[in-house]
Amino acid sequence: MSDFSMTINGQPVSAADQFDVKNPATGDTVGLAPNSSKDHLDLAVAAAQVAFTTWSQTSDAVRVQACQDIAAKIGEHAEELAQLLTREQGKPLNGIGSRFEIGGAQAWAAHTASLSLPVKVLQDNEQGRVELHRKPMGVVGSITPWNWPVMIAVWHILPAVRSGNTVVVKPSPYAPLSTLRLVELMNQVLPPGVVNSVCSDDRTSNIGAAMSAHPGIRKIVFTGSINTGKKVMATAADTVKRLTLELGGNDAGIVLPDVDPKAIAEGLFWGAFINNGQTCAAMKRLYVHESVYDGVCAALADYARAIPVGPGTEEASVLGPINNRMQFDKVQRLVDAAKQKGRVLLGGEPGEGLFFPPTLIADLSHDDPLVTEEQFGPALPIIKYSNVEDAIRQANDSPNGLGGSVWSRDVEKARQVASRMECGSVWINKHGAIQPNAPFGGVKSSGCGVEFGEEGLAEYTDIQVMFS
Ligand code: NAD
Repeated sequence: MSDFSMTINGQPVSAADQFDVKNPATGDTVGLAPNSSKDHLDLAVAAAQVAFTTWSQTSDAVRVQACQDIAAKIGEHAEELAQLLTREQGKPLNGIGSRFEIGGAQAWAAHTASLSLPVKVLQDNEQGRVELHRKPMGVVGSITPWNWPVMIAVWHILPAVRSGNTVVVKPSPYAPLSTLRLVELMNQVLPPGVVNSVCSDDRTSNIGAAMSAHPGIRKIVFTGSINTGKKVMATAADTVKRLTLELGGNDAGIVLPDVDPKAIAEGLFWGAFINNGQTCAAMKRLYVHESVYDGVCAALADYARAIPVGPGTEEASVLGPINNRMQFDKVQRLVDAAKQKGRVLLGGEPGEGLFFPPTLIADLSHDDPLVTEEQFGPALPIIKYSNVEDAIRQANDSPNGLGGSVWSRDVEKARQVASRMECGSVWINKHGAIQPNAPFGGVKSSGCGVEFGEEGLAEYTDIQVMFS
């Protein structure tokens, strides 16, 4: 067990107050995180403001190199980061777990290096020249969740740095240590103050709220729940901050009548149970046509039954525990309620500690809480439909609009249904796939703005139009 530090102006900074970060598989303390005060935040913002005066003036080549150097650092320390991530987050080392997440973070960092936003010439004639420039904004505040902490920190920090901003990042108290270490590593290749970290337990100190209000921060990029996102939006109004909000989802999957249940079972399972269901754009409710309903339920249960669940540090584990008690209790409450009305195909009873087995509950109706609320855990509700128009209507009958999917042998027919779904990403015969060159974001209450690609990079800039 060790003490972890904030990084402010390139230096490790400890806090008088600390809090325990627990291993969700064992309950053991993984490390002590600093519980930052408002003064620490002020120091971090001040350091980032000073660094901005020079970093915003660096050449493109310098920033490209910085992103590449960060990618290389992540690669050099991949196993160390993966081990730490597994111990604090719970996800297994293997499969779509910690090693995958750290590899993804490295790949995303490298891809961000390759992005650019060149000056756009809007007009160049005898009336004059009009150019659109994209300028860095200042200090970006990054607030991240506990489910994919390292990957999401990279999604926030790299485009900010690439476009000439400086950053103060605050991870979730449920899995902050790998991010604190990541920022230390970034500071080995960046000038002091370009990326700073702070951290709080959210009980005695809530630095996320303080960041949203801070007059020295120009933009907040926030990934987390809809409720907290609303608070960020309200608090940020006073200083008219720019916002990118990546919020919760309640993604629907629609299975059309022509599928082969056995052929889609694996894709359905991982669409829903990636990271134990603790993924924003996981499939959180499944609508299946009555003609293939029994077959899909059986094939999905057969696939899920064979998945090894265990401590993430064991190489054989494919799914781990739920990350924290609050989330565990929510999953249990929704599953207990669903069991009264639906049919348990698999799981349904909690395991030891924070372990909860993959749970499939069939025969639910569209208004069951496991269907209408974001469970964010290993429990999938399955709803039978007889008319595809009903399935589309029910899929869209949600305040959320992050992702959705359609499953069919007829890709053209699936594309037609997909285009009618109200969500930022929609997949055919898969669910949740993302890539660094494709913008990702939610519609409706799932957020505002996008990440990734040139569109995502542009969100870290102000437009300045120059007339000459
Ligand atoms: P959360 O909203 O509880 O916490 C997110 C972050 O906000 C944490 O760092 C937390 O410390 C901080 N925070 C707490 N109170 C705050 C306040 N008043 N002001 C500002 N920040 C505050 O979310 P979580 O439980 O960590 O993450 C799970 C949620 O995140 C799920 O709803 C999931 O769908 C969503 N999520 C969305 C995406 C996406 O890209 N759309 C990705 C991952 C997770």
